[in-house]
Amino acid sequence: MDGTEGHSSFTDYLASLLDDGDVWDETAVGITRKVIGDGEESLSSKQRYVFQKRVLEPFGQRDCTLCQDTIPWDDMEMARFRVLFGEPWLCSRCDYRLSKDD
Ligand SMILES: [Zn+2]
Repeated sequence: MDGTEGHSSFTDYLASLLDDGDVWDETAVGITRKVIGDGEESLSSKQRYVFQKRVLEPFGQRDCTLCQDTIPWDDMEMARFRVLFGEPWLCSRCDYRLSKDD
């Protein structure tokens, strides 16, 4: 596990939230950076609460509208992008199936 600690599809997704400016308030940005660098377990209970309320609740994982599976972190950035354009939450599998049926 050496060298991969702190880097995952979850932290990649968090980084994209910062890059896109979705998480922008100073406290939430600092806490998100800490999670990316040191992992969620490095947070104090107060920071964990803020992370939950301001990052995970508004931007965290959703269930796919069609198959009800939890959308994997890998697919969340693309799923969120589609939702911005008025589409429902979809996992990449259902999205692929829908686009093929067109
Ligand atoms: Zn699905």
